[in-house]
Order: sequence, then C-alpha cells, then structure tokens
Amino acid sequence: MKKLVIIGNGCFAKLVDFYVSTYSEYSVVAFSVDELFITEKEFCKRPCLAFEKIMEYFPPDEVSVLVAIGYSKMNSIREEKFKKCEKMGYDMPSFIHPQAFIAPNVKIGKGNIIMEGVIVQPFSEIGNGNILMSNALIAHDTVLRDFNTVSVSSTVAGFVNIGNNCFVGANATIRDHISVLDFTLVGAGAYLYKSSEGNEIIFENGRKKKMNDIKKKNEFLKEKVASRILKEEESFPKVFALDTVSYCNLKCVMCSHKTMKRKPGFMSEKLYKKIIDEIAEKRPDAQIWITFFGEGAISKDLPDKISYAREKGLSDIRFNSNATLLTKEYSKRLIDAGLPTLVVGMDAVNEESYSKIRVGGG
Ligand code: SF4
Repeated sequence: MKKLVIIGNGCFAKLVDFYVSTYSEYSVVAFSVDELFITEKEFCKRPCLAFEKIMEYFPPDEVSVLVAIGYSKMNSIREEKFKKCEKMGYDMPSFIHPQAFIAPNVKIGKGNIIMEGVIVQPFSEIGNGNILMSNALIAHDTVLRDFNTVSVSSTVAGFVNIGNNCFVGANATIRDHISVLDFTLVGAGAYLYKSSEGNEIIFENGRKKKMNDIKKKNEFLKEKVASRILKEEESFPKVFALDTVSYCNLKCVMCSHKTMKRKPGFMSEKLYKKIIDEIAEKRPDAQIWITFFGEGAISKDLPDKISYAREKGLSDIRFNSNATLLTKEYSKRLIDAGLPTLVVGMDAVNEESYSKIRVGGG
C-alpha cells in the first residue's frame, strides 16, 4: 500500500483520514503540523509529527502528502503548506471519492480533496489544492483555479471562471458565464449573478462587502514570522497577574468576586517559586501583579513571596490592595520585602460613597 502523510490535525484532517483510509489505495502513516500546534504526540492513533522535521521522518521518496487544512483565512493556510510540500518535492495526489462523478476529460491538478456526490462536468478544469465538498456541482466548461473551497450542495454553473482562494458557501449558486476573482467569499445560500471583483464577501441577501485584504495581511504576517518577530523572548508574556490569594474580605459592588464559583485558596509556595523562577530566567523585566482576584494582605506570607521575587532579580512588582488589612506591622513587612509599588483601590470620594461601593470596608 502506498504511504501518505496528512498535513493537519483538526477535524477536517480527521475526516480526510477517514476518506483516504476507507476509499483509497493509500495508508495514512502519520499527521504533521507546525511544532507549535502539536498538542498530542498522536492524532487518530497515528504519530503527529513536527512539520519542520517532516523530511527527516519521511523523505519525499517514501511518502506522498495531502494537505487537509480547511478554508481558514480564505484557504491561504492550506496554500502555504501545499507550496512548502511541493517545494520539498513531495508527491501530492488528489483524493477523489469513488462516488464522485468526474467527467473523463476534466483536468485535475494536485492535492485536491473531492468528496462523495461531487459532479464535475466535461470540459472543466480543477487546479491544485481545492476542496470540493459533498454534492457540489461544477458544471461544464468551468475553471476552478487553486486553493478554493466549494461547500456542500453548492452549484457553479457552466462557463464560470473561479480564481484562487475563493470560498463558496453551502447551497450557494454561481450563475453561468461570469468570473469570480481571487479572494471572493460567496456566503451560504447566496446567489452570485454577476462577476465579483475579488476581495469581497457576497451575502445571502445579495449585499456585498469588501473584505480586508487577506493576501496583504498574510504577507505581513509572513514577514513578521520571517523576521523572527515571534522569537521566544517576545512570545513570553511581559505582564503577569498571579492569583496568589483568592480570598477577599470585602464585597465591593462592582466586583464579581462575591459570585466566584471556584474554591478560594492560597497559591502553594512550590508553585509560586516555580513561576517566579521561570519569569526571572526568561523575562526579568516583566511586570508582576502579585495578587489578582483577592486581597493579598489576607495571606501571612505575601511579604515573603515578594521578598523571594526580589531576590530573584524581579524589580517591577505591584500589589493591588483594598488596604483594609494593612496594619503598621504588615506594611513594614511589605516595605522590608522590597515592594516597589502599592496600588490602593478606593473607588470613592468620601466615607458615604466608600461604604456603598466598597461594601464591608468600613
Ligand atoms: S477588594 Fe478587590 S477583590 Fe475584594 S471585593 Fe473589592 S474589588 Fe473585589
């Protein structure tokens, strides 16, 4: 049996795995996605491998690949992976369900996924990396270029020219002899009766809306990634809100603390130190809010926690307090621990408004 690696690990990849495994001559040996998106080592009981190392696991002369990524970002994620696989030299067969009808003279490119009940009439052309979902009809003399999705039960009439990266929603109809330019989204149930200009959305009621220029956006994102703007130290957070104490002694009117469902508690010393150690190693300039959803001064050891963070070299530590428990002694401990910033929540201009808002605060 020929071996196939599916690129993707979402619900669409699962569906394609079923189709390919049930109705084709290929055996799916693995899945592959960017390392960042690997959540489990296995997907559908096969290994899920880092796309960055796919050639080490399965060189192009050993397997074929099929990109099973849906229509997100107007199919451009699928396009990107398709082009990478093509560049690496992989064979990229199309999957055609045995119950699809494809006229014998239809030209079909690489890496298409054509599901059951699809009809492609004579003299039509299907490019690369398209998805034709169940019961879609592509009438005669129609051209569908690359990286499009034509959804279930939609109809594309004859002599239509569909560009790249289009999406035709479920039950949509595209009339004959028109052009659908790149990045057109024809909404579910919509009827497109004249050529689209591209980069636009056509809604069911015929209304049109310009789409943000997805291509430009994608180029921008690619550049960002290429220039390593997402390098590790930048992807590590800069601001932390640590839920070290989730008890509170007040019932302020604006606060949802009083309806909190989870059990209140104190963060363990072990967990706290683990978090602080990691921040100190990766982001010593981080801003750390030492409490998040409670009153920190309820905790006897909060000054010790602050002291630990300071010893580890963290300098931007902030304590947000309702101040009702800040006795002279506790305040001195905070100062001795090296607390740089204390933020006091008052929310009132006089005693009367304070007692109404900060309920329980006096
Ligand atoms: S003091 Fe803060 S945490 Fe407590 S109830 Fe008021 S707003 Fe909420």
